[in-house]
Amino acid sequence: MYDVIVIGSGPAGLTAAIYTTRANLKTLVIAGVKWGGQLMLTTLVENYPGFPEGIQGPDLMMAMRKQAEHHGAEIVDADFTSADFSKRPFSITAGDKTYEGKSVIIATGADTKWLGVPGEKEKIGRGVSSCAPCDAPFFREKNVVVAGGGDSAMEEALVLTKFANSVTVIHRRDEFKASKIMLDRARKNPKIKFVTNTEIVEVLGQDKVEKVKLKNNQTNEVTDLPVDGVFVAIGHMPNTLVFSAKGPLRSEASGSAFGRKDIELDEQGFIKVHDHTRTNQEGVFVAGDVHDARYKQAVTAAGFGCMAALEAEKWLENQS
Ligand code: NDP
Repeated sequence: MYDVIVIGSGPAGLTAAIYTTRANLKTLVIAGVKWGGQLMLTTLVENYPGFPEGIQGPDLMMAMRKQAEHHGAEIVDADFTSADFSKRPFSITAGDKTYEGKSVIIATGADTKWLGVPGEKEKIGRGVSSCAPCDAPFFREKNVVVAGGGDSAMEEALVLTKFANSVTVIHRRDEFKASKIMLDRARKNPKIKFVTNTEIVEVLGQDKVEKVKLKNNQTNEVTDLPVDGVFVAIGHMPNTLVFSAKGPLRSEASGSAFGRKDIELDEQGFIKVHDHTRTNQEGVFVAGDVHDARYKQAVTAAGFGCMAALEAEKWLENQS
């Protein structure tokens, strides 16, 4: 029996575990087979406080994991599959084992949002990617496009310029969500071109990406652009599918055993926060990108992890 089961092992989950273990609470982290969250797919992180020269994303996550383990967190590298919140203690299943916890902190993060256009899905890993730091070296002296108009798109484009011949940012509007500094940096880079008011409507090619079909949403003009790679940087989807049979994710979740006692989601599928990291289920707390559609930073996720741990601690104290 654990005092706290943390589901997820990104900055939110591991920070929560550091705090709960230091509060002498018996803590289990369901880390997932691919533990560590999105920072494991990143290279240099320059905005996490305490590292004046920056730190590699995987190094930061390894340090957080070691810190949680140092304080006594048990970490299971298995994927979370289901939860039963209908009775206490809660039961959480990961791999072929079920664990019992007096409280739960959900920190399952968010995943890449894809365009959902024909030809995209089957070419993931064959020219379609969502991670320039991971895949940019495969596009040395090639021509690529980046979909999106936020900071992620600018960052992906800038990373790609280190390898590719040309990078074209395709954005569906002519205004950008990206911060001024990132947009300016991208605009100043001679390898980056911008095509606005334009959507990628199809990814074309036999076995790999050969071109994209573009549609100007002002003129409806459709053109083909020959490219070798498509980087999708249009935001993220919260990993909440397994927590609720209601809401926008219902169709995939319904019929499964996961909805036995639901965690309430908002209209975009993020976990709804009721009061300081509390969910609609008493004893179940939430931290990080799985509820935060606004900031989505490693440092804010870590902050939410801390908050959820302190709330869980206080709640557990009141139970006895
Ligand atoms: P954002 O939500 O900020 O931007 C997503 C972009 O993708 C928008 O321009 C949006 O268009 C576009 N988009 C969304 N859906 C589609 C679609 N179906 N088809 C075409 N385009 C689409 O997400 P980001 O991932 O860029 O950023 C998330 C957060 O992380 C932000 O707070 C950002 O500041 C932060 N971040 C910071 C970085 C840094 O500081 N180094 C690096 C990366 C991210 P539209 O504008 O029309 O809605």
